[in-house]
Amino acid sequence: MATVKNELNVYESAAARFELAAQKLSLEPGLYKYLQHPNKEITVYIPVGMDDGRLEVFIGYRVHHSIVRGPCKGGIRFDPGVTLDEVRALAAWMTWKCAVVDIPFGGAKGGVICDPAKLSRGELERITRRYTAELIDWFGPERDVPAPDIGTNEQTMAWVMDTYSMHMRHTTTAVVTGKPFDIGGSRGRKQATGRGCMMVCDKALEHLKMKKEGCRVIVQGFGNVGSWAARLMHEAGYKVVGVADIHGALYNENGLDATKLMDWVHVQRKPLPEFPQGGTKMSSTDVLFQPCDILLPAATENQITSKNAHLVQAKILCEAANGPTTALADDILEKNGVFVIPDILANAGGVTVSYFEWVQDRMGFFWRENEVNERLQDVMDRSFNYVVRYAGEHSVQNRIAAYMLAIDRVATALKMRGIYA
Ligand code: NAD
Repeated sequence: MATVKNELNVYESAAARFELAAQKLSLEPGLYKYLQHPNKEITVYIPVGMDDGRLEVFIGYRVHHSIVRGPCKGGIRFDPGVTLDEVRALAAWMTWKCAVVDIPFGGAKGGVICDPAKLSRGELERITRRYTAELIDWFGPERDVPAPDIGTNEQTMAWVMDTYSMHMRHTTTAVVTGKPFDIGGSRGRKQATGRGCMMVCDKALEHLKMKKEGCRVIVQGFGNVGSWAARLMHEAGYKVVGVADIHGALYNENGLDATKLMDWVHVQRKPLPEFPQGGTKMSSTDVLFQPCDILLPAATENQITSKNAHLVQAKILCEAANGPTTALADDILEKNGVFVIPDILANAGGVTVSYFEWVQDRMGFFWRENEVNERLQDVMDRSFNYVVRYAGEHSVQNRIAAYMLAIDRVATALKMRGIYA
């Protein structure tokens, strides 16, 4: 049972899972102390000239949790709710995620407190460039490689890459991943997190001896991760019965055409709840508790808590978002027999293809999309099998198994390197 004072503090949630896994592993006290904390963190104050002539100052963070297994890797989030504790938790999760899928990166994360919906393209570009300039000594292909997250996208990554390259006096594509293909991005990166979620859902169905055809899925969040997960799953024969974004949700037990919905929301730029072939409108929280076989939260943290976990009707919870479930909800889900695919495994498709992008940039040789997807499939299948087998062997929840596996890999690398003091 996890112990936390404030259930909704994601850093506490991350720490509680780390503690449980470390205890099960009998991790040495020194290593425990070292891995519990971030390696370093910075706050930057970003002056930006706004379109109306005002000077505004935005607050940004970057946290390096670990560089033990390689350069640190993690997204940049633009959101009004960003806090240093949130960025710390997300950075630690990146360390464990990279270790679960066994790619040679440590963990980092960044964030800027701002609301992209209320900023012009020019303002967003200036925030991104100044944030990058402030972190010029932190970033680098061998140091820290950012990627998109909530509120940032391919364009943001292009600006980061360009700003970094201008300072270095040469184009450095490998400083960032999730870039547009024409400037060193990888084929398949945009879809990778959603595709990886589908791959682990396929594995879970196989494991639980359930059928894919007609398997009902609810997806909360219809941004990069959620919309691709919903669309790919719809096209693969799953039945997407519920979808939600910040504007509200739709539920239709006969299924929704997620391909058309993606066009409606992302090409036509219309509100999700107004989708003409939709269903019953409801709040984006209520949709989580409707009948389904797979629940895929792909929006933000703390959606499933000790107050509502008992309402989850899904047999499988595939955590596409980072931290959608609080530590106090874990035992309730377990008691109710929900098969949890934890975030550090479920959404690792994104960082895996980011790793492929970094490799391709450094080689200057780009792979075909089916090559990227085949390699991704291999990583996701292997990692799923490993976590589920480990959970069985150690009689722990999948989440704790994933943490144990990850902590053990990082601790082993740390012991080999030794402590430089
Ligand atoms: P995004 O900004 O592209 O999309 C976020 C979506 O969530 C939007 O549709 C938004 O409307 C919706 N949303 C926000 N708050 C909501 C709420 N309260 N209820 C319902 N919907 C809400 O972000 P993204 O890149 O898709 O990231 C989503 C999640 O996946 C985050 O937790 C992120 O950390 C995680 N993640 C992203 C990647 C990636 O490759 N982008 C990789 C791994 C994990």
